Amino acid sequence: MERTFENEIGLLRLGAGETFRGEGILAITKGLLQSGVSYVGGYQGAPVSHLLDVLVSARDLMGEMGIHVESCANEASAAAMLAASINYPVRGAVTWKSIVGTNVASDALSNLASTGVTGGALIVIGEDFGEGASVIQERTYAYAMKSAMLLVDPRPNLASMVDMVEHAFALSEASHMPAMMQLRIRACHVQGEFTARNNVKPAHGTNSKFSEPADFFYPRLAHPPVIYSQEVNKVSERIPAARAYIREHGLNDRIAGTKPSRLGLVIQGGLYNTVMRQLGEMGLADENGTPDIDILCLNVTYPLVPDELIAFARDKDRVLVIEEGNPAYMEQQMLRMTVDAGLSTRIDGKNYLPEAGEYTGEVLAAGLGRYFLENGGNILDLDAIRRRMERMEKVRAAAGALLEAPLPPRQPTFCTGCPERPVFGAIKLAERTVGKVHVSADIGCHAFGTFAPFNQGNSILGYGLSLASMAAVTPMQERRSLAIMGDGGFWHNGVQTGVASNLYNKGDGVLIIMNNGYTSATGQQVIPSSKHSEIFGTGAKIATTLEAMGVKWLRTVRTYSVETMVKTLKEAFTTTQKGLKVIIADGECMLARQRRERSEKAQALKEGRRVEQAKFGVDAEVCTGDHSCIRLSGCPSLGVATNPDPLRKDPIAEVKQDCVACGLCGEMAHAAVLCPSFYRAARIHNAGWFERTLHRIRTRVIGAMAGAA
Ligand code: SF4
Ligand code: SF4
Repeated sequence: MERTFENEIGLLRLGAGETFRGEGILAITKGLLQSGVSYVGGYQGAPVSHLLDVLVSARDLMGEMGIHVESCANEASAAAMLAASINYPVRGAVTWKSIVGTNVASDALSNLASTGVTGGALIVIGEDFGEGASVIQERTYAYAMKSAMLLVDPRPNLASMVDMVEHAFALSEASHMPAMMQLRIRACHVQGEFTARNNVKPAHGTNSKFSEPADFFYPRLAHPPVIYSQEVNKVSERIPAARAYIREHGLNDRIAGTKPSRLGLVIQGGLYNTVMRQLGEMGLADENGTPDIDILCLNVTYPLVPDELIAFARDKDRVLVIEEGNPAYMEQQMLRMTVDAGLSTRIDGKNYLPEAGEYTGEVLAAGLGRYFLENGGNILDLDAIRRRMERMEKVRAAAGALLEAPLPPRQPTFCTGCPERPVFGAIKLAERTVGKVHVSADIGCHAFGTFAPFNQGNSILGYGLSLASMAAVTPMQERRSLAIMGDGGFWHNGVQTGVASNLYNKGDGVLIIMNNGYTSATGQQVIPSSKHSEIFGTGAKIATTLEAMGVKWLRTVRTYSVETMVKTLKEAFTTTQKGLKVIIADGECMLARQRRERSEKAQALKEGRRVEQAKFGVDAEVCTGDHSCIRLSGCPSLGVATNPDPLRKDPIAEVKQDCVACGLCGEMAHAAVLCPSFYRAARIHNAGWFERTLHRIRTRVIGAMAGAA
């Protein structure tokens, strides 16, 4: 795991009246404990990984409370876990990154939403748009609508978020609909405080087990013929029950404006802070957050409550619906509601705001500014709005002027010393002999290989799907194709959708599995084959699994051994042996390894044991300044420096201070037959007598030779 949560675990134990201070996602975790959950699970993904990480770290507390914690193999297994709430009056919560995770979970989700739940079921999803997002840009809202699931989108302050966790469970129970809670990255990391309530031990859990299983009751199965009545039930009973709960408990906030209410804003709860900030900047809200115009802030965005929206729109000329992402589901529903109610209120939305992408402060300021200038008439202070727009233009112009000078491109890349980087260098070297191959890329840190200097990858179709996505490519290529998958992706679903399918179809092609030991891109959570886990893991071995499945051509190569990797790749691409060729590229995630070794080394130093700290360097007199090493390894620790030789103009390569001595640059220079300019230097703490004696001899010999010169 990328960090420890010792302090945060203390926060989870706070009792009634105590003040919780921390970040949003931890407040949500505390909200789960205050809601009496019996079980929690999920699959990691930004920005909700910390929820599961902290629960896993708090296993003592979970054990005391009788809460079952499951680190699920993928989002489908997390969604299926919610089945416990179908038959039993127990509350459960799972988490994942949407939209991709929801796609993976969708089979179980549809079935869960069809039967409905008895105990509250909550899915905490991370969903982002724009450049802060790491996955494709689609709205989870579509799933809420099509499957009749609740979608909660709380205002991003800790008290509201925690309240909405507790309400989400109650709402789920009142309506029998599973609930989803949408969190943007800013809400997950927002800092704040709230007054805690006591944690609630679940009535049923690992400390108080059911003595008997649930009675057989056919309507709790998502199976014909009851699926027909379940679908009717969604619209005839569940959605109306949800609307009644939302209305009765005032889950959506109506904030009265101070000016005559000809205009109004309907906002997704998660956007509330950003909208209010812009209103404040435009002089349309005071320092206490009281706006000039009426606002309806929807903490539950599905289902919408028609009475609330119609009552809000009734006395207004125009209402602007502010919803992030495409399509404009809320705006379309509201249009229908106002037409059905016979209102003449005009509904605006995507005609003033971008159809897609993130609604940042700047985006909202531009859209709101134009909306108010065109429609604010004599009720708003248009001069203040104009001044804000002008200020923004000036800032944008100033930023643009700064950008006129060319900036060096800074692409995302592998960490310094990453074990996956050498594999992409090896692929480039192998291609020199076998020719260019089709590369089917995947999700994970290895997707950095799609950026310069490697530029490897023809498609990315989903997590663990690289091998499956070249199924129709390979038979149509003269040269074998290459799929690259991480060990996380392999266990997530690649083992079945990729490997099993390829073998079953007697496929061909080459598969590289990056065996770094963790799902590194999401913060080094453990997977079934992880070696360094005290909590989870099965000791499963990827190689044994592949052999058992029938893979005949299988090699395991240490990733930093570039020459061996190049040879193995060439063999895989050219061998006459038919069938899938798998190379397990072995090398522990450098970030995780350094975190692990840092404390081990500190302990060794404290105890006076031998510790070696190594760095690589470039011999300035040998380096020719051709920079092939940089192009082939792409290590961020390699830069250029002025050539110390006055007779040579080309800058030489240099190794910066953050080098972790992975040895790749030296290996790469050797495998590519570049130059011998790389050297390794090691600083040894608490050296033994042999090393000390050797050092003395070497110093004397070098000194004598230098003197002789
Ligand atoms: S997190 Fe680990 S696997 Fe990912 S880029 Fe960094 S070192 Fe490589
Ligand atoms: S400079 Fe060389 S040894 Fe140092 S981290 Fe980069 S590739 Fe590894």
